[in-house]
Amino acid sequence: MAISILLVDDSKFVRKGIAKELPDILRGRELIFSEACNGNEALELLYVNSYDIVFLDLTMPEKTGYQVLEALKDKGIKANIIVLTADVQPESERIVRSLGAAGYMEKQRPLNRDALMKVLQEMNLL
Ligand SMILES: [Mg+2]
Repeated sequence: MAISILLVDDSKFVRKGIAKELPDILRGRELIFSEACNGNEALELLYVNSYDIVFLDLTMPEKTGYQVLEALKDKGIKANIIVLTADVQPESERIVRSLGAAGYMEKQRPLNRDALMKVLQEMNLL
């Protein structure tokens, strides 16, 4: 069965980086990618579609990742969200998890493949 993935990040490089790694990690599965480059775009998509995995940046224009999580929580929308951040801190992990994020990973350049696999494993997606 195909896996639908929403990539939310204001950096095109980050979106492309994840899209490039995932086919090899989720080998043999058909992947359907969608992208959003800010929080408002992400919410427009998340209000009408459901995705198997959502990668969500925290620092973005329009609405931040925190605001996206809050808006989804307010509306009672559940999504399998992996938060991406360049600035990993226990406090921000606690906040995003309390707002419903299922995974939390550090954004590195190039993308850390092991970290990506670990977070997908934790979410039982591998
Ligand atoms: Mg950003």
